[in-house]
Amino acid sequence: MTAKILDGRAIAQELRAELRAEIGTFTRQYDQVPRLAIVQVQGDAASDRYVRSIRKVCDSVDVECWLTHLPENVAQEMLDQTIQELSTDARVHGVLIQMPLPAPLSAEQAVMHLDHRKDVDGIHPISAGLIAQGRSALVPNTPAGGMELLRRYEIDLAGKRAAVVGRSAVVGRPMAALLLHANATVTICHSRTVDLGRVLQECDIVAVAAGRPGLVTAAMIRPGAVVIDFGINVQHDGSIVGDVDFAGVVEVAGAITPVPGGTGPITNVMLLRSVLTAAHNQMADMKIADGR
Ligand code: NDP
Repeated sequence: MTAKILDGRAIAQELRAELRAEIGTFTRQYDQVPRLAIVQVQGDAASDRYVRSIRKVCDSVDVECWLTHLPENVAQEMLDQTIQELSTDARVHGVLIQMPLPAPLSAEQAVMHLDHRKDVDGIHPISAGLIAQGRSALVPNTPAGGMELLRRYEIDLAGKRAAVVGRSAVVGRPMAALLLHANATVTICHSRTVDLGRVLQECDIVAVAAGRPGLVTAAMIRPGAVVIDFGINVQHDGSIVGDVDFAGVVEVAGAITPVPGGTGPITNVMLLRSVLTAAHNQMADMKIADGR
């Protein structure tokens, strides 16, 4: 059996077209464009690349993007103040703090200065709490993209056994919460899980976000299972591979995301979907405050 390839590039293209139309409607309705502010502390080449790719997607869907560059040696107080100011600026609908922050800056402290209603990366503890409770929230973009991919390919989750490999706050944990919310029966695996293969063998859905190339092999996968690979690992030769041994697993699984071209392309589009959601929420809040 050869697995169906879940094509993230095609889904991202579809999502971009839909989002562009929805943003056009928002702009006409409120006479303003959704606006994303990115706060970036300089000094990381990978961050520069990521910010460039976000700005490109912003242009493609007509979201305005403000970039605040802070020097590498910026004081924590200045970073916190910048985030606070953007959080209270009514012209800004979403604020993205570009991670990782260089030492000794504290991301945990910085995030506490972000208004959770503008937390388009879904990293604020209030966002995490709402997601954990299955309530409406701005969701981290990578797991949101994984769920969108499953939805678009009409992969049924209710009652299915699902495993998430990885328990980070930005990918593994929210992915597990979203699968649970979709009525899957969910197991979370991590570096201390004993006999990972035995756990995964029982599952119909396997989502992997471990940052370990080739961690999940064909022998661990139940025939016909759906495999979502969030891993992005840059090899010595500059090529990118996931956390799943694609060549082996594609022969066993029912469906699989390739790397590159699977979950990656969807992530940035989901970020801009969150900007639009945040913008709509803020407009609704203003109406309530005005008594309209
Ligand atoms: P983290 O390093 O924060 O978390 C990795 C998780 O994997 C941890 O929970 C860790 O367990 C677990 N883990 C590590 N080794 C093993 C192992 N041998 N067996 C089982 N579990 C293991 O990474 P992130 O969540 O930030 O990222 C994970 C991957 O996803 C990376 O490759 C990253 O590049 C990619 N990524 C992809 C994105 C996308 O758009 N597709 C966006 C963000 C990240 P423990 O908690 O015990 O240490």
